[in-house]
Amino acid sequence: MNTENHEPQTPSWSIADAEKTYRVKRWGNGYFEVGDSGDLMVTPRYDQPDLKINMREVIDEMQQDGIQFPAVIRFHDILRSQVEQLNKTFRHVIEEAKYEGHYQGVYPVKVNQMREVIEEIVSAGKRFNYGLEAGSKPELVAALAYNTNKNALTILNGYKDEEYLRLALLGIQIGRKVIVVIEKYSELLLLIKLSKQLNVEPMIGFRAKMMVKGRGKWESSSGERAKFGLSLSEMLNAKKLLEEENLLHTVTLLHFHIGSQLTDIRAIKEAVQEASLIYCSLYQMGIPLKYVDVGGGLAVDYDGTQSTNDSSCNYGLAEYVADIVYGFKQSCDLQSVPHPNLVSESGRSITAHHSCVVTKVIGEIMPGGNSYPTRKTTGEHIIVTNMRDYHKDLNQNNFQETYNDISQLKEQAEQAFKLSVLTIEEMAKVESLYWKTLHAVNDFVQQQEFISDELKEIEEKLSSQYLANFSVFQSAADSWAIDQVLPIVPISRLDERPSKRCTFVDITCDSDGKIDQFIGDEHNANFVPMHPLKKNEDYFIGIFLTGAYQDVMGDMHNLFGRLNEVHVVSYDDDPKDFYIEEVVRGTSVESVLSTMQYTPAILAQTLKKEIDKEVARGKINPRQGVQLIDFYESCLAGYTYLKV
Ligand SMILES: *Cc1c(COP(=O)(O)O)cnc(C)c1O
Repeated sequence: MNTENHEPQTPSWSIADAEKTYRVKRWGNGYFEVGDSGDLMVTPRYDQPDLKINMREVIDEMQQDGIQFPAVIRFHDILRSQVEQLNKTFRHVIEEAKYEGHYQGVYPVKVNQMREVIEEIVSAGKRFNYGLEAGSKPELVAALAYNTNKNALTILNGYKDEEYLRLALLGIQIGRKVIVVIEKYSELLLLIKLSKQLNVEPMIGFRAKMMVKGRGKWESSSGERAKFGLSLSEMLNAKKLLEEENLLHTVTLLHFHIGSQLTDIRAIKEAVQEASLIYCSLYQMGIPLKYVDVGGGLAVDYDGTQSTNDSSCNYGLAEYVADIVYGFKQSCDLQSVPHPNLVSESGRSITAHHSCVVTKVIGEIMPGGNSYPTRKTTGEHIIVTNMRDYHKDLNQNNFQETYNDISQLKEQAEQAFKLSVLTIEEMAKVESLYWKTLHAVNDFVQQQEFISDELKEIEEKLSSQYLANFSVFQSAADSWAIDQVLPIVPISRLDERPSKRCTFVDITCDSDGKIDQFIGDEHNANFVPMHPLKKNEDYFIGIFLTGAYQDVMGDMHNLFGRLNEVHVVSYDDDPKDFYIEEVVRGTSVESVLSTMQYTPAILAQTLKKEIDKEVARGKINPRQGVQLIDFYESCLAGYTYLKV
């Protein structure tokens, strides 16, 4: 080891180390991996494992096409693959279990309502009669136009008014299987009234208020205080009422949903047990149920820990499906009730992997900032000299002690500065020397096999903030709102040791606009390793698994609008295995301002008048005046994010 200039040798780094650090394969679900070139690779089709797209090449092409970042990259093949895998897994398990119902899933529109997403899912699901679920009037309006397969289900959840129910009956009139799930007893009264009035027989589902609690962030979706669903007594009252109205035969589905991102498979097993019992009892009472809808909840392993962490789950698709199919089979066989057809409303798991946000790191905010020259000057305060000596005398045997000493000395310096004992220049030197020494101490710490908790805090103190050109509020809302962990990985240089410890800050002027929770071993980590930035070389990062909810929940904080978007489609005959099928432009400054009731033309006119006045006064020359107006107008038409 070369102790003289405090530069310990760094051990070598391999692709396998990158995989271990970022756990790409674990959260990637077969779609993402670190390539031998050190670039992040995408395998978007599960049935074509040799077709690999290099994300670096996608970004290169976007740059050539003049697409500004941040941008969303959508892999349509991943959506397709997820729809196929879900349906095929159910079919396979149903066959294996000799289950007598079939599977007929629906995609819950609220998880990602983008038209292109819905189109792809409907198209991929056609041969499985895969349908759509709507939770509001606008979602139903879209679902009616897109779910044109007459054999597929359209399932309606959420609170409903008369208009919503009339739309449902319209669906029935055009031959669709539209099932109104009754969330609240009063909806049933309204539906019966309308159905008589319009002379259209509805298809009815009951949502059960479940006793079992989901676990994780969404556990309040069930239990007696749940917002939605009928209690057992309400279901029995509903049965009586429908019998009197001669409509009992229209009740076809039992629905439950105990929460999204169910992290623990045990909650699913318990829910299946409870729901199968309710199903059997209602069936035996004469309600001709044909379907049981197990709702959403199929989780995504965002942090790749395969645990019951909030951002993970301790099961996979095969186990989830098996627990549902075998669970219902067992209960029904025991009670001699026919096996119901199974419906699920998996949204997160279908969409999460297919899109990511790619952006550039545009700066680094270092602890301590830029250092100040620390040369010794005559008559300097002894505190400065001492700090310099600690740096000079640091070695392998005293680094722990030095750490304690400089921490204490820095505190003393701060006191001395407040009492005007140290000058501002001396304080600046103390700070610079402190950070320099701390870095050197850390180099020794990193050589240790065992690192004490006390020394671990050094890493945190030294972690940099990387400034990335995006808005957390627009692109990673759940990371801000509920501490959702999303994988963040450099797109390239993965064959190089990421020697910096970083957190991320965005470009909003909100101190909450940051990401400081990352994939860790047992607990979330407070920083993520990244590479040192290079002059004249772009550093791209990807925020992954943003296809579910994040894509569509973003808000307009600071008036950063929607992102530019590219749709990447795999294509075997292309040398790069892909092409960009579509570019969707993000929000321009003028359109974002329009949504806030501004009129861009008036803004430009006002500015022009002001500039003309200054031209008239001779403060601005006329040619310059015209350029200024042109510039203002080009900003209005441009992208909201930083042009870097
Ligand atoms: C949100 C929601 C879903 C989707 O759940 P995921 O966990 O995203 O699959 C399904 N059904 C209902 C009723 C929902 O409210």
